[in-house]
Amino acid sequence: MEKNALMCESMNLNLRGMPLSATLNINEKSNEMIAQGKKVYKLGLGQAPFPVPDVVVEELKKNAHKKDYLPVKGLYELRDAVAKYYKLSQDLDYTADDILIGPGSKELMFILQVVFYGELLLPAPSWVSYAPQASILGRKISWIETYEENDWLLMPDDLDSHCKNDPNAPRVIILNYPNNPTGKTYPKELLKELAEVARKYGIIVLSDEIYGELNHDGNHVSIARYYPEGTIISSGLSKWCGAGGWRLGTFAFPKNLKWLLDGMATVASETFTAVSAPIQFASIRAFNFDDAINIYLKHSRRILKALGMYIYNHFNAVGIRVPKPDGAFYFLPNYSELRDRLEKHNITTSSKLCDAVLNDTGVAFLPGSDFGRDEHEFTTRIAYVDFDGEKALKAAYDKKDEIDEEFLKTYCSNTIVSVDKICDWVKAL
Ligand code: GLU
Repeated sequence: MEKNALMCESMNLNLRGMPLSATLNINEKSNEMIAQGKKVYKLGLGQAPFPVPDVVVEELKKNAHKKDYLPVKGLYELRDAVAKYYKLSQDLDYTADDILIGPGSKELMFILQVVFYGELLLPAPSWVSYAPQASILGRKISWIETYEENDWLLMPDDLDSHCKNDPNAPRVIILNYPNNPTGKTYPKELLKELAEVARKYGIIVLSDEIYGELNHDGNHVSIARYYPEGTIISSGLSKWCGAGGWRLGTFAFPKNLKWLLDGMATVASETFTAVSAPIQFASIRAFNFDDAINIYLKHSRRILKALGMYIYNHFNAVGIRVPKPDGAFYFLPNYSELRDRLEKHNITTSSKLCDAVLNDTGVAFLPGSDFGRDEHEFTTRIAYVDFDGEKALKAAYDKKDEIDEEFLKTYCSNTIVSVDKICDWVKAL
């Protein structure tokens, strides 16, 4: 303990008292409870439920013998495949030289903040790790409020109001859509308006599009279309390709931010060196969006959309407010309508709410406070991923008509049961 404290001080990092990341912590806590023989429904960690597509796994097998260190910025063929993917999916013009490959986009985000000295702007709510990364580095974090009536999306005027007092300050903002924790995405018009404000103040937009391919209607649009010169697109294989454990992330830079890419590559060269060779070779296949990948994605989206709608209908029916989902596999349920009933049971914060539900029903999820929301607001985050994605996907391939409740109850049963348990718990309050 003492040694740890000394190490943190001598590294001059702000780690004292910081716990494990909330998402990973809830996963480990849930697994420990399961190991003790308890039944736990895992809506905590947002791990993609679907398997890595077979064609990509085959490539990994073929490349298992690849043993050399690869270039720091990433394998040329992979960077080229990523650049081509953005041409195809977003009509954006990148070349391999604009792409940086890292061991997960999370690590790339951290390194970006190592290299870029400025204020970090975060809409509240935002994903759990953005703010702690900035805290570790001692960077200034500014939360910008969002509102439930706007589906928790950042409004351009609120961004403008934040920036206008010090218009020239160096800033980076992280926009994530489809969003973790809300499941909402930005309509084109709003992206255009946000792009204008970002351009006005020279803000770098780190556009976290890791869930882009999991837009439930398959029509994700990047803000880079409207603000190409100031946007870095962050993505990777963890979510749409089911490969979180492979740790493969990508950043796409505009030409004029090459200095940032190069600075990040220097940090990479002194830290992780390069991403694992077999993983990079296999990933080339993943970015080749042929029928195998497109059909896999079509069915992944169908399942997530149907499941999202089931939860949306059931939660709202019992007074847990959630907006209609657009993508990914998250909700930020708001229990504030039930405040009086919760407080009668001495549940006064979102953390206490999570503890009570876990204790009473075995369903694990996270408080909204881990995502920058007020503890007393009664928001929480669920990741609706506790099901066998491989079985569900196989069944979806064969199911020509609509994915209905019966399908969900058969193939996504743990998630359905946990949502029903939460609803019953609320009704019994
Ligand atoms: N993105 C996942 C989540 O929000 C977790 C992945 C991670 O923390 O590395 O649950």
